[in-house]
Amino acid sequence: MLKNLSPSRASQFKTCPRQFKFANIDKIKEPTNEVQAKGTTVHEALEKLFDLPKEERNTENLHNLFRKVWTDVRSNDEHVHLFDNVEDERAWGLDALQLLSNYLNLENPSKFEPLERERWVRGTIEDVNLRGILDRMDRDSNGNLIIVDYKSGKAPSSKYKESRFFALKLYALLIEKELGETPSELKLIYLQNSTIHTLKVSKQMLLDAENEIIEIWNNIKKAIKNKEFPTNKNALCNWCYYKPICPEFNNNVPNTDKLEKYNSVINEINDTLEAIDLVGGLEKLPENSPLKNTNLNAIKIMLDDVNEKKNNTVSTIEKILRK
Ligand code: SF4
Repeated sequence: MLKNLSPSRASQFKTCPRQFKFANIDKIKEPTNEVQAKGTTVHEALEKLFDLPKEERNTENLHNLFRKVWTDVRSNDEHVHLFDNVEDERAWGLDALQLLSNYLNLENPSKFEPLERERWVRGTIEDVNLRGILDRMDRDSNGNLIIVDYKSGKAPSSKYKESRFFALKLYALLIEKELGETPSELKLIYLQNSTIHTLKVSKQMLLDAENEIIEIWNNIKKAIKNKEFPTNKNALCNWCYYKPICPEFNNNVPNTDKLEKYNSVINEINDTLEAIDLVGGLEKLPENSPLKNTNLNAIKIMLDDVNEKKNNTVSTIEKILRK
């Protein structure tokens, strides 16, 4: 069972429950692609920019921060197979540097100091454990809180403008609950086409966001209980990693349901091992603890066995996904 919900997982369920299942219930991990790698590296460079003294927050230093961040992570397992050749990587890097130059056309980072960066926000709304990381929080000259998010893509047309604020509305809600102060504005900075979209926060807006996340969570719980995650054919299907195993587009797709069972057994065993470890071993557990009679060897063997079954199933599915 899912323990936490992030705004992006909630949006994913809204867009396509089947995609949500593949990613979060079956846990078929989507490998990092070039677009995601560019987004995270650009975000990190922007975060580190504000570690520099104000007078050093210029284009050259921002570009150097990007190069440094990429140099540190480019050999990771996650990134090492991203590019077929140096030319592709170079073109990708130049594009990322352009995004950072675009940023400097929108804001002058030497003129302000963010209040917080890469801030964890978490909280409980009814029985939903919500969590996420907001990119930046500022305090404007009137003392108001502003929540800021960088987007490495293009700003949407006015028709889709407000729906893109969903995550920030939830962050504003959690910040309000945590700090007792309501943020006054949400700001999305789109780097691809140098555009800023802002939205003033109202009580009604936060109430609507709260009701919406509760409704999504209830729908997720219902889907898990009934084992029903319908496909929702949409404009983004062509970019969906799971399309090759999606029943909407293929006959005879592999059944991924057993992954859910494997994941729940693995989680349960890991939770037990963690609980025993936390108190310092079986012998330290009180006599009346339900874990006292745990056969550690037996559950470790079972864990290896289930992990092996899971890995075999995942590798069969991945062969289809990566064809
Ligand atoms: S291809 Fe489309 S319908 Fe199928 S899982 Fe992905 S988003 Fe959903």
